[in-house]
Amino acid sequence: AATGLDGGLVRYDASLEQRLTQRATIAADLRRALTAGEFHLLYQPIVELPGGRMLGVESLVRWRQPDGRVVSPADFIPVAEDTGLIVELGAWILDTACAQTAAWRRAYGPDALRSVAVNVSARQLLDPALPEVVAAALARHGVPAAQLTIEITETAVFTGGRALATVHALSRLGVSIALDDFGTGHSSLGLLRTCPVDIIKVDKSFVDGLGGSPQQEAIAIALTGIADTMGLRTVAEGVETAEQARRLYELGYRQAQGFHFARPMPPAEIDAMLQQAQDR
Ligand code: C2E
Ligand code: CA
Ligand code: CA
Ligand code: CA
Repeated sequence: AATGLDGGLVRYDASLEQRLTQRATIAADLRRALTAGEFHLLYQPIVELPGGRMLGVESLVRWRQPDGRVVSPADFIPVAEDTGLIVELGAWILDTACAQTAAWRRAYGPDALRSVAVNVSARQLLDPALPEVVAAALARHGVPAAQLTIEITETAVFTGGRALATVHALSRLGVSIALDDFGTGHSSLGLLRTCPVDIIKVDKSFVDGLGGSPQQEAIAIALTGIADTMGLRTVAEGVETAEQARRLYELGYRQAQGFHFARPMPPAEIDAMLQQAQDR
């Protein structure tokens, strides 16, 4: 395993055979890890352009193993999906994010953060109980549905009619629905007709293309245009440079997320930012 970019984050990076063994090891370990409290959530600010003021956060799960190694969700979420443990892990993630949101509401007021986003994967959308799980987490912690955003991907919705029905049920609860990695699937635009979407998160690949060919920029421009026409909010993902942020603003983007503004961070660091905003 090599140390990745993400501040000591260890990515499994090995041969196919090693990967398969690691997959089996991860599968066996996940349940124990959940009981042992080895998961935690980081929160990455979603900011306003051009100023960079924090509007909300996205929660991102991490697994810290007993030996101190932190495993990337890209390595264990797919395994958790295959084994079905994502349903339990996902419920824990929703509850933890709602508990944290409630704590921020108490400490800094109900309007200090417009939204807290939670990622939900394909397998979770196939669980007809998901809307109840979300409603229960909100109720348990006294968080209004309007403050929660559920991030889904196009692939997840296309696993079947049941997934789409679940998204409609979630939307009826009053939570916002964000379409993640927008533009990378085969029918991103088609999905906007059938799926109750409030926010599109424009994939990092389009942000990376800014400043390149006019053709590449044309897509980024078209996406904000469509969103504006449909009354949707857009968030540009994976913004790493000041130049990208500036160009996005010129193209009409008003919300962004990425290492240029802030990395995923522990809740205490979000506290410090909220405190600072309050002191101003
Ligand atoms: P995602 O939902 O698209 O999350 C954004 C990923 O991009 C995060 O990786 C984040 O750390 C990373 N990122 C943010 N800004 C930048 C940037 O400027 N440059 C680059 N290169 N990367 C940036 P992370 O935390 O490793 O998560 C990877 C994926 O794992 C997520 O992609 C999501 O699909 C999944 N995931 C993470 N947390 C959860 C969770 O709680 N539940 C579920 N179901 N999936 C999760
Ligand atoms: Ca996401
Ligand atoms: Ca994304
Ligand atoms: Ca992604």
